[in-house]
Order: sequence, then C-alpha cells, then structure tokens
Amino acid sequence: MSTAINFDADMIRKYDRHGPRYTSYPTAVQFNSEVNSDIYIEELTKSNQSNKSLSLYFHIPFCNSLCFYCACAKIITKKPERSIPYLERIYKELRHQSALISPERVVEQLHFGGGTPTFLSDEQFEEIFDNIRENFNLAPVEEREFSIEIDPRAVRASTIPVLRNLGFNRISLGVQDFDPKVQKAVNRIQSVEQTFDVIDSARAVGYKSVSIDLIYGLPCQTVDSFKTTLDLVMQKRPDRLSIYSYAHMPHKVKSQRTLNAADLPDAATKLAIFEMTVNYLQNAGYVYIGMDHFALPDDELTYAKQNGTLQRNFQGYSTHADSDLLGFGMTSIGQINDCFIQNQATEDAYFADIDTGGLAVTRGYRLNKDDCIRRDIIQSLMCQNRVSINTISNRYQINFFEYFSDEITELFPMVEDKLLTFNEKEISITRAGQLLLRNIAMVFDAYIEPTNDKTLKNKVIFSRTI
Ligand code: SF4
Repeated sequence: MSTAINFDADMIRKYDRHGPRYTSYPTAVQFNSEVNSDIYIEELTKSNQSNKSLSLYFHIPFCNSLCFYCACAKIITKKPERSIPYLERIYKELRHQSALISPERVVEQLHFGGGTPTFLSDEQFEEIFDNIRENFNLAPVEEREFSIEIDPRAVRASTIPVLRNLGFNRISLGVQDFDPKVQKAVNRIQSVEQTFDVIDSARAVGYKSVSIDLIYGLPCQTVDSFKTTLDLVMQKRPDRLSIYSYAHMPHKVKSQRTLNAADLPDAATKLAIFEMTVNYLQNAGYVYIGMDHFALPDDELTYAKQNGTLQRNFQGYSTHADSDLLGFGMTSIGQINDCFIQNQATEDAYFADIDTGGLAVTRGYRLNKDDCIRRDIIQSLMCQNRVSINTISNRYQINFFEYFSDEITELFPMVEDKLLTFNEKEISITRAGQLLLRNIAMVFDAYIEPTNDKTLKNKVIFSRTI
C-alpha cells in the first residue's frame, strides 16, 4: 500500500480555514460545568464493569523560562521547590482515584506532559513512581507504552537512564527550530549539541522510540532556514516527527503578544515551508501518519495506521485503543467511557479542590448518541482516512444517508476537488485530501458553524488549517 501524499498548494490555500485539530470530539470548547467530581465518580465506578486497561496522564506545569509562542498550561519559575506541594497534591489525587478503580485494571500507557516534566529531580521521579506502583497495577514491561516530554535544555545527564529504569520507553523532545535567529525571537535558546546528547543517551539505554517536535510558521523562519533545521534533525533520524503549524492567536495567548508580528513569515512563505517539509520528509522515507505527524516505516504508528488500529487522542496519535484515560494535575484531561473530564486550570484552584475532596474536576462533557456517531466518523477519518458506512450504520442503527444528508451535500465540492471519493460503502480520503483531514472532519462536526471560514466564532477559538 502506498503511503505517499500529494501536496496541492492550491487546494490547501482554498481550504485554509479556522478549525479544530480533533484530539477529541467534541473538542474541549464544548466542555461544561455539568460534569463535576460526582459525575466523574459515577463514571469511574461504572467503568470498572468493562475492565478496560488504563492510560495515565500527569501534567507537570513548571518551566524555567517562557517560550513566547507557547499556548500550554504552564507556570514559569526558577524555583525547583515549587514542585514539592504540587507533587503532594498529585499523590493525594492518585490515592483518591485509585480507590475508585478496580485493582484488576492494568495500566498499559502512561504519559508525562507539561510544562516541562524534566523540571522534576530524579528523586522526585522515583518518588512519583513509588506512588504510582502503590496505587495502580502496572502492565508487564513488554506491554507498556510509557512516554515523557523532554526539554533538552532542562534535563540532567542522569535523568535519561533514571527514567528508562522506571519503565519509560518513549521520549519526545521539544526542538521547534535550530536556527539561532528564530530561537532568539521566540526566547528558546537550545543548541544542537544538547539536543543530540539527549538522543544519543536515550538510544544508548534502550528507549524504543525518539520523537522530535518542530514548529513551522515561527518568526524569522524561511524555507531555507527550516530546511537547515530538518537537515540537522535528520542526522539523528528520529522515529517520529511532529511538525506543528504555529497558531498566532495573541488575543488568546498573552505571551504571543511579545513576538514581533512583522517577523512572522507571510502566508505564502508559511505554505512554502510546509510544502518543503512534507516533500523533504517523504523523500527521507517518512510516512505521513496524519495531522502533523510523521513516522519511520517500521514504527508502531505506521503499522497501526496500516492495520487500522491507529487512535487519535490528546497526545496526538497512539497505538493503544480503548483504554480509559485518567488525568492527574492541573488542567489534565481524562476520558472514561463516553465522558471527558478536565481538572481545574490554575494551581490554586487545583490545590484547593484536592485538599477538600481529593478530586479537582471542574468541567467536562458527556457524549450523547449523536456525538458518539460523529466521534467515530471523525476518528475514522483522522486515523484510517476512510469511513465504512456499513460499520457506522450497523453500530448505531441509523440510515447513514438520511442521517447525514446535509453533510453529504457538503462533501460534494470536496469530491469534485478530488480530496475524497464517496460511494454507498465508504468515504475514502485521497492522497491530496490527507493534508486537509481536519477540513473533511469538520463537515461532520455538529458544533462548527457550517457556513464559511469567516465565522467569527471559529476564528476566535481555533487555529487555521495551515
Ligand atoms: S514550549 Fe514547553 S518549555 Fe517552552 S514555555 Fe511552553 S511548555 Fe514551557
């Protein structure tokens, strides 16, 4: 099966609009305060009947310095001791959630994100794992997928082997861009050497996968400068690459106001960088997994895409289907059955809730039947690049063509533009349509204003396609 995609600049320009990246459906914009700790307890208790495996997410919000483009939930501080009271709350939360979970249930997947997880000391990582092991049943080593985001600027040489000993087998490194001019503009100075040292050390101690994150569309970037970054990255041939489009939304992200907007590449340059990157990575042998993600042909993500088991989740893509996700720490998101749950967004509110009741759920969303149907379609488009009409019709006992008559009408121009094909059995995305996955998925999103890309609501909330 060919995994190549076509870069059609005219089509990308034509369909460039504001829209979600669909790490969930419905997106977090729909979360509301009707979902609280009581609902979460109800859902957790109910979920034990299924005995599904578990995925744990830990949000470590601390960073030593501010990268101006960053829209993550973070706390900038130079004081390592800030993490001590935070971890105390994480341990309380672990105890509280584990008391509600059947001890039979096994943790197969675990992820530390941030912020900067490596803000923590080696001893703190060991302490967290003591707490995790006391409260949860970890899967046998060969069945685990334990991953962590690493900031090469903020990691001690000892930490990489310590994390490996604790069972981590995947790391993802924030790089964004190696060009000194770009690094200065975004306030993230990171040398090639310190990045390569982390990769070498991870490989030396047996991590299964190294992933690198880059961002295009940052200030001062050009096609040539970004190509130089790719040339450098290729010296280490990471197993996976995430290439994100920078979303300049200063009305939402305060630190982005610090960037000099005049330094941002214009739309044509940004598109040219993206085109160069897609072609570069394909020529280098990488497979396009979907929405910003590339992987080597022998990576598990590539196999999962080929055999239909790929999943889209809050971390991007995953090979682990059908786990319940438990979140720990401020802003963390969980998913139990057909319900999303999110923790308090600020450290103070998170501490106050954990101290009072052991949980810090502030909002979430319970999917209804229509949401579930649309979620399955969007997942299928994002991961398998096709939707089986029979599967959806049988699973939900609907007449697909009647149920989605408006959406089908909306798909016709995309068929004419050769982004997808459509018959009575399936919707299938073409090679040219793969870079416009989110536009195709948006047709099935009940919460997106269907009219056009000028819609103010979509504009304020979501980034552009490119
Ligand atoms: S990009 Fe990463 S290191 Fe930089 S401020 Fe954001 S979370 Fe912190």
